[in-house]
Amino acid sequence: MKIAFFDAKPYDRAPFEKYAGAKGLDIVFYDVKLDESTVGLARGFDAVCVFVNDVVNAAVIDALYAFGVRMIALRCAGYNNVDVERAFGKIHVFRVPAYSPYAVAEHAMAMLLTSVRRIHKAYNRTRDFNFSLNGLTGFDLHGKTAGVVGTGRIGRVFIDICRGFGMRVLAYDKFPAKDSGIDYVSLDELLAESDVISFHCPLTEETNHLINAETVKKLKKGVVLINTSRGALIDAEALLSGIKERRIGAACLDVYEEESDIFFRDFSGHIVEDDTLARLISMPNVLVTSHQAFLTEEALDAIAETTVDNLLSFENSGVCANELCYRCGNIEDCKKKRLEKCF
Ligand code: NAD
Repeated sequence: MKIAFFDAKPYDRAPFEKYAGAKGLDIVFYDVKLDESTVGLARGFDAVCVFVNDVVNAAVIDALYAFGVRMIALRCAGYNNVDVERAFGKIHVFRVPAYSPYAVAEHAMAMLLTSVRRIHKAYNRTRDFNFSLNGLTGFDLHGKTAGVVGTGRIGRVFIDICRGFGMRVLAYDKFPAKDSGIDYVSLDELLAESDVISFHCPLTEETNHLINAETVKKLKKGVVLINTSRGALIDAEALLSGIKERRIGAACLDVYEEESDIFFRDFSGHIVEDDTLARLISMPNVLVTSHQAFLTEEALDAIAETTVDNLLSFENSGVCANELCYRCGNIEDCKKKRLEKCF
């Protein structure tokens, strides 16, 4: 099987070479992202392997299909960048539903601690032999209220971590988990009561701009927002206004609405065109990491293993448990329980 691997980074290669090599798969790594201008590179391949910022829209899917590509292997959990409806009947789409929820949840807490204890400021100061503490006053997490939006794999690990810090945890989920011991409340209640809010739900039409000009008004004054899910959950302009109005106390962003042409690349020494991102980064209470929450050795290993297994499972048996099924309408968890393929 020949696989065109897009948006390849140095840290991707070793785990994929290990698993794919051992199982006889032939991978060609391309540094460029997959989109309409690069899709021609997939000509002659059986499958493409893509990540969060590759553009797999209708035009790209039509081109891939015309080239004879029959499988799209997402090496991530989220699939908002793939037009699954367009792929139906043409190309089978697989994803990695879980690799290390700990990696993402721990990163969310790392950002929160960095922000509330001003670690990023202290690190820079002491490197410059500035040992002043002025302006570094933080606050205890113990006794504060954490609001968790989305209580799936990552959300639950984050809840456990917050409980370990002695925080009270409230949660909102469209599909609350029964008998989980999680204290579910309405979204409005969560927004009003939480000192810290962390987002762990997928990006859908419903969750797009969950934080917008209207919902910002409902937030508790001084709240810290943490987004390690998908950028478009938060309307970046509304976030900026909320920070300027001093309603939002801090923002920890591992994802950003317009990240796709910026994140994973080195723009040092260049003028960044995105004024909203530049303004956010200029603020002392905004912390940005570039979609890094997944990046642990354990997660990279698990991603490579599952992606290779997904491709081989489909190749060998015509079925893949991690196929995104458009036909039955239950995209993530096919009603047929994978006894047959999606089409
Ligand atoms: P999951 O599927 O296990 O959990 C998602 C939860 O969100 C589920 O409980 C679901 O019921 C809930 N949900 C669905 N629609 C909702 C809505 N409208 N409102 C509130 N809750 C809703 O997913 P997960 O593995 O926990 O991952 C969560 C998200 O994290 C992914 O969708 C992905 O976008 C993001 N992610 C980011 C990184 C990163 O590196 N930053 C890595 C992995 C995943």
